[in-house]
Amino acid sequence: MQRWQIGDVNITRIIETEDTSMAAEIMLPEATPANVLPIEWLKPHFIDADGNLIASIFSLLIESQGKKIVVDTCLGNDKQRTVPAWHERQGAFLDEIAHAGFPREAVDIVACTHLHPDHVGWNTMLIDGEWRPTFPGARYLFSSLDWDWLDQQPVTPLGDYCGDSVRPVFAAGLADLITPDHQITDEVWLESTPGHSPGHVSVRISSQNQHAIITGDLIHHPCQMARPRWCSTFDFDRQQALQTREYFLHRFCDEPVLVIGSHFSTPTAGHIVADGDVYRFDTG
Ligand SMILES: [Zn+2]
Repeated sequence: MQRWQIGDVNITRIIETEDTSMAAEIMLPEATPANVLPIEWLKPHFIDADGNLIASIFSLLIESQGKKIVVDTCLGNDKQRTVPAWHERQGAFLDEIAHAGFPREAVDIVACTHLHPDHVGWNTMLIDGEWRPTFPGARYLFSSLDWDWLDQQPVTPLGDYCGDSVRPVFAAGLADLITPDHQITDEVWLESTPGHSPGHVSVRISSQNQHAIITGDLIHHPCQMARPRWCSTFDFDRQQALQTREYFLHRFCDEPVLVIGSHFSTPTAGHIVADGDVYRFDTG
């Protein structure tokens, strides 16, 4: 279990998957072995010896000013998905968060950076054959722009993730539609980083003059620091996603802000540093 301390704020990473199964062809088509192997600093944490991308799906548990906040909720258990590794999973997520001091009944806030199936899964769990909110005492924060979009979508080829992981939260009265600049505590707030989805947000943390940002999917893999123009297959608006990523890299380059990449494999967090015309991820 990885933990970071940002001033008075604790952040704990709960990993659901970390492997090479999110293949480049699916996640970042241009990040082929031939294209990433020359980027030396990606080894050994972010690509394997054959140039396969290593990626992760995880939740972050944030403790700030007495609030227990869960950022993104992974894939979930028992969900019907067409991606084999995502289908009817049986992971120990609930035990792991409880062990980390976040029993599901004690969570105050669930914040989804965006409404995609690898970020909303544990919003719900199967109880007596029905999808019910996993965190019965929480307010769930969804970007209203993302909800306006998802609510109108036909069921995706990935499976009915809206029906099993988002709509039940509304049905239970636990969903709050928020604008992208939403403040969660004095130390934790959301920031608009659109493109990957219409209302995509990142999470900012500042406490005692220490700073961090949780990216969400404005960047999927550290290779995009060396190759900022490589885009994800799943970007809603590729041009906007590209602008958002380039601005993000420029803005946080050589700044004392810990960057936690939402799909970055262990060690996951580091600093963006200039590397010629582009960037590199310094994980110390
Ligand atoms: Zn994702």
